[in-house]
Amino acid sequence: MNPPTPRNPGKPKFFDSHNHLNDPAFEGELELVVARAFEAGVKGFLVVGYNLESSRRAVELAETLPWTFAAVGLHPHEARVFSDDLLAELRALAEHERVVAIGEIGLDYHYHHSTPEEQKRALRAQLDLARELDLPVSLHIRKAFPDMFEELAAFPGVAGVFHCFSGGPREARQALEMGFYISYSGFLTYGSRKLEKALRQTPLDRLLIETDAPYLAPGEYKGGRNEPAYLPITARKVAEVLELPLDQVARATYENARRLFRLPIPPYEEPEEEDLSWNEENEEEAL
Ligand SMILES: [Zn+2]
Repeated sequence: MNPPTPRNPGKPKFFDSHNHLNDPAFEGELELVVARAFEAGVKGFLVVGYNLESSRRAVELAETLPWTFAAVGLHPHEARVFSDDLLAELRALAEHERVVAIGEIGLDYHYHHSTPEEQKRALRAQLDLARELDLPVSLHIRKAFPDMFEELAAFPGVAGVFHCFSGGPREARQALEMGFYISYSGFLTYGSRKLEKALRQTPLDRLLIETDAPYLAPGEYKGGRNEPAYLPITARKVAEVLELPLDQVARATYENARRLFRLPIPPYEEPEEEDLSWNEENEEEAL
């Protein structure tokens, strides 16, 4: 089946490069949530797994929802359950044509749900899987930047994104030097000067935006359940910090997601403007 193209003429269009529509928080409400996203100009989604079950669900959604793709992986919080069997199941899922990334994977030294050793073991195996399958990675890093850079140095050639970036300008520079993209979430709207500085150092061709829904609701929705329809709030904040028109931010981040994840979606189109409609005057010119 060919999914319908979400249309929103005259408005910027956005790609949500990391969310969890596979989370139970959206159960029974997905149609409405997706409809609200399309209405807001959010044209496509990367639904990201965090364990085996949510990875399976992400693939299911990518098969059924329009403009939806999946990432499969084991989150560092759950690294203690990592095993060779689990890796084999992730590999089988990752071979699905709608799976465009391995994630989210990473290191989180804030919560310590798994030990650093358990986290590194799961991370290395999944970086290796990404390399084997030639897929980019969606990386979760919290209070673990030095270790993450050390781990990534052992996997040259693995591409990807620092999802929901929480570092400063120094960490941003290092990620960029290693060839990674940087993704900004609703966290950017919470007023961190350090994060805004990092954003100013991120070239427009390495910039992604995401909701990480249901987490990290932006702006006035802070504290509530996030959803993809709120992505334009973060995009507007990016545009404000970079002093760029919103459409330029929408276009760049859409095209970057398309390139990094090699998405089979059409290039970003200019918002349709009324004065581009065919009329006698430019018909004559064309003749
Ligand atoms: Zn996430």
